[in-house]
Amino acid sequence: MMGDPGSAMPLTHRGARFELVPSMQEILCLLDDGRLLVSRSHLQNPSVKAFVARLERISFTHVLHPVEMSDISQAYAGARVTARHEVSGSDMQNYARELFRRAVKLRASDVHIRVSSRSNTRILFRIHNDLEFQEEQTYEFGHQLCTTIYQAMADVADATYETLSSQDARISDRSKIPFGLDGIRVATSPQVDGHVMVLRMLYNDANNSSDTTSLGYTATQAQSFYLMKKKPTGINIVGGPTGSGKSTTLQRLLSSIIRESLGRKNVITVEDPPEYPIPGAVQTPVTNVESEEERARAFQSAIKAAMRLDPDVIMIGEVRDTPSAKLAVQAAMTGHQVWTTLHANGAFQIVDRLVDLGVPAELVCDPAIVTGLTCQRLLKVLCPHCRQPLDQVQASLDQFDVERVRTAVPNAAIYVRGTGCGHCGNAGITGRTVVAETILTDEPLMTLLRRGDRPAAIDYWRAAMRGQTMLDHAVDKIAQGLVDPFQAEDIVGLLDGGVRRLREMAQAN
Ligand SMILES: [Zn+2]
Repeated sequence: MMGDPGSAMPLTHRGARFELVPSMQEILCLLDDGRLLVSRSHLQNPSVKAFVARLERISFTHVLHPVEMSDISQAYAGARVTARHEVSGSDMQNYARELFRRAVKLRASDVHIRVSSRSNTRILFRIHNDLEFQEEQTYEFGHQLCTTIYQAMADVADATYETLSSQDARISDRSKIPFGLDGIRVATSPQVDGHVMVLRMLYNDANNSSDTTSLGYTATQAQSFYLMKKKPTGINIVGGPTGSGKSTTLQRLLSSIIRESLGRKNVITVEDPPEYPIPGAVQTPVTNVESEEERARAFQSAIKAAMRLDPDVIMIGEVRDTPSAKLAVQAAMTGHQVWTTLHANGAFQIVDRLVDLGVPAELVCDPAIVTGLTCQRLLKVLCPHCRQPLDQVQASLDQFDVERVRTAVPNAAIYVRGTGCGHCGNAGITGRTVVAETILTDEPLMTLLRRGDRPAAIDYWRAAMRGQTMLDHAVDKIAQGLVDPFQAEDIVGLLDGGVRRLREMAQAN
């Protein structure tokens, strides 16, 4: 689960309640939401300790967060610019900044601005994967807002907002984005009666952790990742549909490789586009492309270029066509550790996808070449304050559905999504958590796959390798009261495959 970086104001800057001298402002920042940011290297500093003691004396509720000094200067910078800006009075930029702050506060992944001459401008946030309507404005307001964001806030050389074409840009000027973000990716497109702008919020807390269990992976799965990282060569693939959190997982794994090697490994990424900074990695973007065809070609030449840069570890953002699949496998065969993502519905299905993409089956089923297969989805985490026991609501539900869930998850206190409360911003959910399956390949498993004996391979994986399917993982999380069983079924499929219902209907007839 991810924390909320919020968009709080410092209480320790000049003129504020707890004003500090400039030298202290370099190592400490108290925010008005109670977060106390303290430089990791100065936790034992006597002045820091004295400040904490002072807060405790007056019973000021706070939570200490050890951070980097750059995070602290960023926290102050955001506030200074806001203050300056109110004076200069560019209303539309202020409005945009406030919109971004609200989005970050609600942990929205995207902001959609739909400008339409027929139905005005509608602003929506994507929160926990659902689009939520925020507000309506006039057409002119929306047009002006998009123009301001593109022309005055984004870093584009040719800064003219064209409502009749698709444009891409990025806002990376720290003074224009709220605390908690690394940047905002901007994508625009015309629509029949207006235009659309989609802003992707790039949160910066995603790369502060190199831990996969905090994403929702089990200890056994984290152990599989550990062993994949230990193998010096081979390709490790994370599968799942769009929006299933694959990139976050890869980014955490790469961060941990860099940290554990103490910077002795040359880690190169090829991404289109790079989403998050991975400190310590060389991230190469795919640039200057107009068409899909050009994009594919540019991506392939970026992979080839990366292989010439003497890498130990290569991350390829996504394998999506035959050339990139073949290049990824080739990189693994020439002595590199490769990490990538792929669209697939299950860990074993990754094997099928690679074969579909034209990689010879004998290479795909070689445990020295393909070392790790992972597939993941994201489930919504129930708000612990307003979730409802299934017992209390089951009378209003389909009895087949209730029985199916109770049979699949026996002897557990099962909860469903509540109507929302003050703790969860009336959403009923507080974040998302991974359900996954991981396979660390070996010779016996790959021999079974080469023979085409998938059921035997699955049995071996479950018995000898403690393999757990995504469905098993979801059942565990339902039993812990962490996720709603019916939402889980929407994502990972019916808990019993729906067999029971059909059987009973057949008997009734
Ligand atoms: Zn709640």
